[in-house]
Amino acid sequence: MNYIQTETNGQMMFTIERSKFLMIPSQLVGFHNFDTTLETTKSGRDLFCFKGSLDENFNRTCSVCDRKMHSHGSREISLRHLCFGSTLTVLKFAKFRLKCPHCGITRQQEVPFQAENHRITIELFNYARDILSHGTYTLRQVAEITGLDENTIKAIDIKRLKEKYTVNGQTLIKPEAYAEYLGIDEFKLHDGHKYATHIIDLKTGHILWIAHGKKKKVVFDFIDHVGLEWMDHVEAIACDMNSDFQEAFEAKCPHIQPVFDYFHIVKNFNDKVVSEVRKDEQCRLAKREMWMLPGH
Ligand SMILES: [Zn+2]
Repeated sequence: MNYIQTETNGQMMFTIERSKFLMIPSQLVGFHNFDTTLETTKSGRDLFCFKGSLDENFNRTCSVCDRKMHSHGSREISLRHLCFGSTLTVLKFAKFRLKCPHCGITRQQEVPFQAENHRITIELFNYARDILSHGTYTLRQVAEITGLDENTIKAIDIKRLKEKYTVNGQTLIKPEAYAEYLGIDEFKLHDGHKYATHIIDLKTGHILWIAHGKKKKVVFDFIDHVGLEWMDHVEAIACDMNSDFQEAFEAKCPHIQPVFDYFHIVKNFNDKVVSEVRKDEQCRLAKREMWMLPGH
């Protein structure tokens, strides 16, 4: 992009005060920045506001009759863009509404750099998606880094995970590698009454399966998903003392050795044995103290 030709593409007057600007390729095809202001958001963060316009010669063809659509008003829109350090940025421009004079349908002007279903640029979407794919940061941290809200980050992550692990966003793909040792456990969901179960590859820590419930069906569904040939490579499964899981694996894959994991053995021992001994001991000491009080 040539920033010097201000009169032909409506760019800022870089030739006049060049020393005040960094000229960075925007990668926003069709966007012409004619003014930039520094503002402050409600939460007190700095915000570069890139005001501009879209290319005049965009696609105006009617999708129904193939004829040319006419402009039918416009509206101002704001798209969040990449942060510059801790400073947020936003693009502001007018987007045309188009109407076909022949068949009457209307539609919005397409914005080539806008991420689908979001008020953000494709560049910012890709940046958030790439940070998420590292697996190092929580959703809240990615929201802080990108200046986006957590719901947007969650939506980006769901799209990323669906693209990576499903076919057409519906069917989960089979694990790429075989697993030698699996781990299975249930956990309470937010409301505290329902359970979900997850199955992981113990060596890699990868989650292979998450499903509602804590019954045998979860195990059967998982085995149906990966197939018996895949299960042949599994040597052992670590589980708690939930007999449903153990019985389900033994029923379908008798070669797999169930192993009670260390955490659950210690927890069980604490709950069932140590707590009882502690109660007995407290009771015994309390009685002895009573006898030692004056008057007894
Ligand atoms: Zn038409």
